[in-house]
Amino acid sequence: MQNNSSDFDPMMEKVSVLVIYTGGTIGMQHDHETGALVPVNFDNISQEIPALEDYNFCIDSWSFDKPIDSSDMNPNAWIKIARVIEEKYEEYDGFVVLHGSDTMAYTASALSFMLENLNKPVIFTGSQLPMGMLRTDGHDNFIASILIAGEKEDNTPKVPEVAIYFENYLFRANRTFKYNAENFMAFRSGNYPELAHAGINIQYKEKYLAKPNFKNLKVNTSLETNITLLHLYPGITPQAVSAVLNIKGLKGLVITSFGAGNAPTSKWFINEIKKAISRGIKIVNVSQCPEGMVKMGRYQTSLELERIGVISGKDITTESAVAKMMYLLGCRLPDETFRSLFETSLRGEITSQ
Ligand code: ASP
Repeated sequence: MQNNSSDFDPMMEKVSVLVIYTGGTIGMQHDHETGALVPVNFDNISQEIPALEDYNFCIDSWSFDKPIDSSDMNPNAWIKIARVIEEKYEEYDGFVVLHGSDTMAYTASALSFMLENLNKPVIFTGSQLPMGMLRTDGHDNFIASILIAGEKEDNTPKVPEVAIYFENYLFRANRTFKYNAENFMAFRSGNYPELAHAGINIQYKEKYLAKPNFKNLKVNTSLETNITLLHLYPGITPQAVSAVLNIKGLKGLVITSFGAGNAPTSKWFINEIKKAISRGIKIVNVSQCPEGMVKMGRYQTSLELERIGVISGKDITTESAVAKMMYLLGCRLPDETFRSLFETSLRGEITSQ
């Protein structure tokens, strides 16, 4: 663990951070007619931010033409964010992405796969209350994210990965999920420790941070979106399973299963999955439990899944599995390579065992 020394030093070189504003509660205001919160443009946020220039920071911003609630996020918008980072990569020490919390874990996971050889911080943040509100959590989240995005040690960025900062915690993005719609502490990372905790100082947990590889950034933007999720529940019918597996053009399926990767043993269920695999659909098994991992073969209820070729998501989050599925399918890999890469940690998204 190490302290963050972000105190003002007039001799220090300026730290440059690009803020990418996509929308979300942090930049929302109440609509006069409906009373509902709607995203507004970046000017409304920038007024609320203290003059960071006085603290050796040079902050620029780039904004979506039309900021959105993150429920309207989609892979094309992920690509837009990735392209901006690619274009501005050499100009800035780090990036802060302001984003709604609802789908932040999906976007940030997707960016972790799209930005190969990332050696600079890309910190996603937002807030549960808009910036203009008295009790907003937006200020702290925003300022701490800027500090983290600019943090260096021996001239090397401290957090060379995609992360989410929310309510004093920094998490590896592709390990997170939103679990609370009320508390300021909205995110959890069930299967990986936090990367940092902000108290009076920002305490980084060195051993959990990604290490830079000093290779050139490569941005992957071909994402296959013909995928879907199948959330199992007791009583799921053959009609429901068959309808999902027979979606026209389906290329990949994430099954969210019970416990350690268990599913019904009924013949019809196994047969449907088997037929789908023989049609070339990639099927990954992810647990509905936010902590722990899929271990196919541990119970009889997952043995058959393993035998027929279902891929293990191990301890990946559903959000990350969706993003990784789109990314790896976009790479057009042979079946065995797809399986082995899905079951391997590419960006620290799963625990290798
Ligand atoms: N609905 C909002 C969004 O995801 C919630 C938030 O920002 O926290 O854009």
